[in-house]
Amino acid sequence: MNSKNRIVVFLPLIILILTVVVLIVVIEVPRIFRKTKPRDHLAGAFLANKIIAISEKSLKDNDSSDSINQNSTNQNSSGKQIEQQTSGDGSSNINPEESQDPSSDSASSDPIDQQDLTEATTEAENIDLDKIETMIKMYDYDRALELLKKYPDQNDQRIPELTLDIKNGKNNTVLKNPLENTHIFFHSLIYDTAKAFDDDYKAAGYNQFMTTCLEFDRILEQLYERDYVLVAMHDLAKLETDENGNQVMVPGKIYLPENKKLLVLSVDDVNYYEYMEEDGFANRLVLDQNGNVTCSMVNDQGMTILGDYDVVPILNKFIENHPDFSYRGAKGILALTGYEGALGYRTDERYKDTNPNIDSDIAEAKKVAQALRDTGWEFASHSWGHVDMNIITFENFQEDADRWEKNILPIIGETDIMIYPFGSPFSWSIDDYNYDNQRFAYLKQKGFDYFCTVDGSTNYTTSIRGDFLLQGRRNLDGYRMYYNPELLDDLIDTDYVLDENRPLPVPPL
Ligand SMILES: [Zn+2]
Repeated sequence: MNSKNRIVVFLPLIILILTVVVLIVVIEVPRIFRKTKPRDHLAGAFLANKIIAISEKSLKDNDSSDSINQNSTNQNSSGKQIEQQTSGDGSSNINPEESQDPSSDSASSDPIDQQDLTEATTEAENIDLDKIETMIKMYDYDRALELLKKYPDQNDQRIPELTLDIKNGKNNTVLKNPLENTHIFFHSLIYDTAKAFDDDYKAAGYNQFMTTCLEFDRILEQLYERDYVLVAMHDLAKLETDENGNQVMVPGKIYLPENKKLLVLSVDDVNYYEYMEEDGFANRLVLDQNGNVTCSMVNDQGMTILGDYDVVPILNKFIENHPDFSYRGAKGILALTGYEGALGYRTDERYKDTNPNIDSDIAEAKKVAQALRDTGWEFASHSWGHVDMNIITFENFQEDADRWEKNILPIIGETDIMIYPFGSPFSWSIDDYNYDNQRFAYLKQKGFDYFCTVDGSTNYTTSIRGDFLLQGRRNLDGYRMYYNPELLDDLIDTDYVLDENRPLPVPPL
């Protein structure tokens, strides 16, 4: 064989080898880049993964109710109350540990490697200087700086100004004491006072326990004027694993200007119960055409119309206009029972024969819940049947928790906050919050770490002990505003807030 023939014979082999080499380069190089992608871009994907993990968890937990006593033997939560120190002089303010802030935890704790490179690129392109400006107003300085550094056009004239805002903002903050927070709560708001206060058998209850949309507007205005700032429950404290492998509730590090005061807000019974129909309340939380959460209601002509008829859209708008009312985008906690479904959708298994749209309602409620979570709202359990946890038998207690988990958790996602119905805890003694108490053990096993009662007696009622947080909440309803305005002096001026359309006197209890 001469040399020319030899080349002809080996040519296909050479082409094959070259093709393999090219393929390896094409496939492997992007994979290497993908592994080095910063995790902070993945918060969204992390959320999506978490939802999947939740449904798996709920199945598992349903099968493991026998294991409570095993959990209870080797854990002890009777630590002493943690005294959180406020920063003494408030002069030098930037703490080196600030980079471990809660907002970055969620994005950095779970490694996710299998995402597309394109996601990171798109985020860089989507960085919006207006959004960064809002972040700065919401005291989220580290995240704002991080995004600003990634902004594609570093010559933009707003960059020096925003960088200075971040620096000045940070220098102006001090470490707050998370125990010094006020937790206020509401029920669904009355938007049509004529319908709510129409002298039917429910009118007295609405007058005592509800707040009107107008009153809520005025309350927000006053809280803002008085330097309150909304924080998330998970900003106050978080569970961490200590060096012995025990779960410990660790006070959060919240940095705010000296004059700002911590505020937590919750809304009970965000279920839009059947009894409220035609009484001047919203009937559902829904997504509008832009994907924003708003309320729907049925007007006198029987048409469903959308608008700001309850806490969620009203507070969203208020924060849009006053971003400095929210610490890092915190909104409020929505507490749901289960027996009439979620968020106004009749999704409970009780409705499977009577609600022909139950599947699409479940799907819709899930979308709304996700949109709420994405925009700073948190969820809480308010029990399935609005039960008094202090009175019911342990068997009913377990059944109720199981039903909530089965029907509501798949819609709203995992939650670790328990807001007691009637404000009535399984025990009024904080010493019962340990694993020898079967009710505490059961709630812990179901994933609850934050527990809320009702307590309007003092301004600050938060305890952080062992592996839980316990706090009282203050009602800003008709009864409290009318009969005990002095108890609300630090928050609002009730003479200004009370709706002119609320019939007075508020009926006594
Ligand atoms: Zn309730």
